[in-house]
Amino acid sequence: MALMTAKEYIESLRKLHTRVYMFGEKIENWVDHPMIRPSVNCVAMTYALAQEPEYEDLMTATSSLTGHKINRFTHLHQSAEDLVKKVKMQRLLGQKTASCFQRCVGMDAFNAVYSSTYEIDEKYGTHYHENFKKFLTFVQDNDLTVDGAMTDPKGDRSKAPHAQADPDMYVHVVERRPDGIVVCGAKCHQTGSINSHWHIFMPTIAMGPEDADWAVSFACPSDADGLYMIYGRQSCDTRKMEQGCLIDVGNAKFGGQEALVVLDHVFIPNEYIFLNGETEFAGMIVERFAGYHRQSYGGCKVGVGDVVIGAAALAAEYNGVEKASAVKDKLIEMTHLNETLYCCGVACSCEGCPTKAGNYQIDLLLANVCKQNVTRFPYEIVRLAEDIAGGLMVTMPSQKDFQSDLPVGREGETIGQICQKYFAAREGVSTEDRQRIMRFLENMCLGAAAVGYRTESMHGAGSPQAQRIMISRQGNIQGKKQLAKSVAGIKE
Ligand code: SF4
Ligand code: FE
Repeated sequence: MALMTAKEYIESLRKLHTRVYMFGEKIENWVDHPMIRPSVNCVAMTYALAQEPEYEDLMTATSSLTGHKINRFTHLHQSAEDLVKKVKMQRLLGQKTASCFQRCVGMDAFNAVYSSTYEIDEKYGTHYHENFKKFLTFVQDNDLTVDGAMTDPKGDRSKAPHAQADPDMYVHVVERRPDGIVVCGAKCHQTGSINSHWHIFMPTIAMGPEDADWAVSFACPSDADGLYMIYGRQSCDTRKMEQGCLIDVGNAKFGGQEALVVLDHVFIPNEYIFLNGETEFAGMIVERFAGYHRQSYGGCKVGVGDVVIGAAALAAEYNGVEKASAVKDKLIEMTHLNETLYCCGVACSCEGCPTKAGNYQIDLLLANVCKQNVTRFPYEIVRLAEDIAGGLMVTMPSQKDFQSDLPVGREGETIGQICQKYFAAREGVSTEDRQRIMRFLENMCLGAAAVGYRTESMHGAGSPQAQRIMISRQGNIQGKKQLAKSVAGIKE
């Protein structure tokens, strides 16, 4: 099958029987739900841009499995150049949506599970790699979106999966049959889970021999029997449900999405299993998936940062202060921070190398440094954006006030006229444009989009401490000590 168009992607979601719950109710038409649709639109952009000749080189690739032209979001990276293109593609999508476009988790899962299954089979003579190749060929040929599901609820963090009071705190096998396994558990804050055709489940931590039933990885359709999702709410999310208030939403077209994905006795046929009890490989899958996703943030968050910087510059322009040296300096600082993140994303890609299975993996140390910076710099970027925007981004009356005909003044002036008068921008700039840019910044800095740009920058792809552990492991302090000894003339 050829690449799907954005429209075909959206229509393909309607054919699924995905069970979605929100506000205590089952949502039947979730594709058109005003709170969910912006996240569908975001993923649709990964299809739309792949159709544009201008972006063909970034958005598409040649499949290493079939030789077919595929969307890069389903690609196994074949070179360091591919890894760089991935980051550039993510920056592009961030620029076009100013949101999390969700499809990367699947791409990062493909690359991690592909190389890991090869090494599991090598040790145990299992057939996980063949299973995975067959599954990925199906995904590529049908241009599917797949959620990479890793984060378990984890219960008592001090205890291993097998030691939890409730065994469902980590996804696990509850029954083994000749034709497959039955699994229970859940994955938390799953990006893009509702919009995905399929899910790949992976373990979330390294495991010991007693955790065999929890060391499991598999693919399953999003509408599998026993699987359902409970939608995660975002700050100011119900603004999307207010009629005629699109300006107040800030970014009415695009948004991210997270959900709790529950597996209630879901049957997984053997052909979709990629790990089943080989505990020592759980850590490998986690480390590789996390590494790829930490690289991803050096692309997506940079693209979103580009839009935030642009919005701050516009806010300054509309207020008539764009020539002030203090404002210029803040924009320089924001750009410097944003491009530093991009440097890290590109660097860990350029330093990538082939895995035993043949696909390319990023340099893990640099990818972790990339993500560690992402846990900090977007916060400083939004702080500076708020500084430039001024308090109006959080005190401005609603769109309904700006449009209200209700007379309030002595001369019969309406609420709308009063708002227009007192919130006027500099000459030549409409009040509505000023409203739009303020609301956009509010959305990015502390509204629904802040989920993606702030908190996800902190915790997505692993919290800061997870990167520090990897940096300590990969940092080669012993080697550095040798360098110092050698230069300082210290003999062994
Ligand atoms: Fe992609 Fe970034 Fe969203 Fe992760 S946070 S899914 S890398 S856009
Ligand atoms: Fe993420």
